[in-house]
Amino acid sequence: MTKVVHKFGGSSLSSAARYQAVANIILGQCQAGDCVVVSAAGKTTNTLVKLWQSYVQKDDNGFNDILLQVENHQNQLLSELFDSQQANALSSQLKDELQSIAKAAKGDSLHEATLLAHGEIWSARLLARLLSTLNVESQDVDARTLFTQHQGQLLHAQNKQACLAQIKADKIYVVTGFIASDCDGKTITLGRNGSDYSATLLANYVDAKAVSIWTDTQGVFSTDPRKVSSAIKYPKVCRVQANLLARLGNPVLHAKTLSPLKDTNIKLQVRSSFDPEVVGTEIVKQGYSKDKRFITTFDELDLIRVEGLAVGEVRTLSQLIQHSIHHFNKGGEDYLLVPSKDTHAVASHLAGRGNIVESHLRGLAIVSPSHETAHLTQQAATVLEQQDVVVRFTHSDGSYALFLTDQSIDSDVLAILHDKLVNKGRELAVIIAGLGNVGEVFVEQCQKQVEKLQATFDLKVVALVRSKEMLFCPSGINIGSWQQQWRSEAQAYQPEDLLERIGELDYENKVVIDITASDAFSNMYPSFVAHDCHLISANKYAGTAEQTWYGKLLEQLQERNLHWRYNTSVGAGLPINFALADLQNSGDTVTRIEGVFSGTLSWLCSSFDGSKAFSELVLEAQSMGYTEPDPREDLSGRDMQRKLLILARDLGLQLDVDDIALEPLMPVHLADGNWDSFLAKREALDEFYQSRYEQAQSQGKALRYTGALEVDAQGKVSAKVGIAYAEAGSAIANLTPGDNIFVITSQWYESNPLVIQGPGAGKEVTAAGIHSDLYWLTQKLK
Ligand code: ADP
Ligand code: ASP
Ligand code: MG
Repeated sequence: MTKVVHKFGGSSLSSAARYQAVANIILGQCQAGDCVVVSAAGKTTNTLVKLWQSYVQKDDNGFNDILLQVENHQNQLLSELFDSQQANALSSQLKDELQSIAKAAKGDSLHEATLLAHGEIWSARLLARLLSTLNVESQDVDARTLFTQHQGQLLHAQNKQACLAQIKADKIYVVTGFIASDCDGKTITLGRNGSDYSATLLANYVDAKAVSIWTDTQGVFSTDPRKVSSAIKYPKVCRVQANLLARLGNPVLHAKTLSPLKDTNIKLQVRSSFDPEVVGTEIVKQGYSKDKRFITTFDELDLIRVEGLAVGEVRTLSQLIQHSIHHFNKGGEDYLLVPSKDTHAVASHLAGRGNIVESHLRGLAIVSPSHETAHLTQQAATVLEQQDVVVRFTHSDGSYALFLTDQSIDSDVLAILHDKLVNKGRELAVIIAGLGNVGEVFVEQCQKQVEKLQATFDLKVVALVRSKEMLFCPSGINIGSWQQQWRSEAQAYQPEDLLERIGELDYENKVVIDITASDAFSNMYPSFVAHDCHLISANKYAGTAEQTWYGKLLEQLQERNLHWRYNTSVGAGLPINFALADLQNSGDTVTRIEGVFSGTLSWLCSSFDGSKAFSELVLEAQSMGYTEPDPREDLSGRDMQRKLLILARDLGLQLDVDDIALEPLMPVHLADGNWDSFLAKREALDEFYQSRYEQAQSQGKALRYTGALEVDAQGKVSAKVGIAYAEAGSAIANLTPGDNIFVITSQWYESNPLVIQGPGAGKEVTAAGIHSDLYWLTQKLK
């Protein structure tokens, strides 16, 4: 059984390199029995339309020039994609076809649809041949043998039979988009941009489970992403809105694309053949996605008022001009929006029943959730007025508003409109994992902070995750009373369930905030990223993971345009990662970072004055909750080693944790055995510390436990965590017990380094630091 229909539009086949890329996608994603529907290469149909026009206008020179242009374009593709023997064979077949076209033109028997059909025929032939050279069993199929239409209606039963008879599970079938035939075997087309429709029709006939429309954008956006760079890609768009956009002439999907999917479960996706790894947009059934906001623009349209418009007449007219015609009723009158170049044909067909109300209009339509339309219409009117765009006609029907204008809506105006109307309500779903000390405070602080962010952002906390249970609520958890909801709705936590629920979330943006101390949770980062989630971590595991894994994660984030903040994984709320990024982004080169990045070790070393044994102080710190449950975890220095690695990676250095030399703040043998056995040997720790303390004192210095990273002029890196004797009076020697300190030397801060100092632990400052990351993210997404 055929499983998937892939459709590649002209934009995906615009050069030999693009054909090659498409062949690679097919190699990676298709199985025998799948179908590939293709459009004409690049702008070939436009060129063939011009060829037709020159024929109609009897412009022989023009005709010959364009024919040559077509031949050159095809031959170039052939010569770049095949060896000379294959290219020559295909080229001579092409020559024969072009000669027939020229002959038919001379004999006045050229037929428009048959001429246009060549674009798709060449494209399917070329791709099937290319796949064969890559040892993929494939065959090109002329869709005129599959799709028959009679009096404007496709003969579904007959077509289905034809498809099932021809398309088997043995190879990949490359089917021409756009074309069909009538009962007399004459070529017809399905209208400009009609290959999308060919693909969904075919999917319906062969009972495919999915259709992928591969194009040159990563999915369906809030507006044309080629005009507005801040256009938002929507992960899901419901069929009704996609259909409306298509009927308004938006090119991303053809107007009829969705009709064959009605009453089926065929999945429809729009994806980019330029970025095949990126998740595209899924067009889902009504009720499976919230309505979104879109702006789509128009070029050169005439507004025609029609008297006595008959049922089905718009379809007939669309067919006549090969272009979708938007129809609406205002004040009891029927209006059509017709491309200006086709008005003549439409008006003659209407034979006196059509009045041209306005001509050569441009403009835009806003598609939105219906409760927002009135408000957005008002806002749009204000912006257009401010931008001196003259509006000649407006119409609104609840789910969209039309503005027909004198001038084209250029990219600048579109960007302003988009910023004012669409970007305002940007959505962000927040998933919070880890409700320990810091997590609980973070959630508490959320009440105020979320309210603040919601002024410009549609931000919802959708999940709270603990190691054994989670609360997942796609419409948003009331953060003021989450405990109550937790008690009634929390469910067992399973990593797969969490991922599945995240995958189903219908939000433009998602962020996972990891406040756990779990290695297993950080191992899920690649899966979160695959589900298009941004990441915020207080957890240090991912940031210190093995370099290959870490590098891949960064690549994956970059590919998907996602952000990862981890400001609190070093120095709690202190803005150390910000500072490093900022220095480097502004052209500075950091040559050395030195400091104390452990609150516990800072407290121990700065408090020690010889009045009591070091182990005494350790036990005191333990009883005040300043240490890990087993303080040897702190004394081992591993936590500082990991933090120094995070800072090193912030400088773009490729290191692993073992590349950082580590000297623990205790005799090595004390690391073994249980806590009691350690206590029995505590004098060894005291002696260890005391001797070094005295040595430092004798040199007039202070014993500190520091991390230091240095990059020399040749780029050689040395990194170490261990005991250091700090010059009396230096910032490190004067450190307040418990504080962290980062001393940054750079090209600009050379003789007098930049110092960042303050509390480097504590639940309030850490939670606040995570909020700072969240705020940064919302600013970035605006
Ligand atoms: P294809 O050749 O793959 O059929 P089209 O040119 O027909 O591609 O349609 C894709 C184009 O649609 C994109 O290049 C983009 O410029 C345009 N476009 C307009 N509005 C949107 C939108 N809202 N989302 C995505 N693409 C859009
Ligand atoms: N090649 C046709 C066109 O350019 C059909 C399509 O691309 O969908 O309109
Ligand atoms: Mg298209």
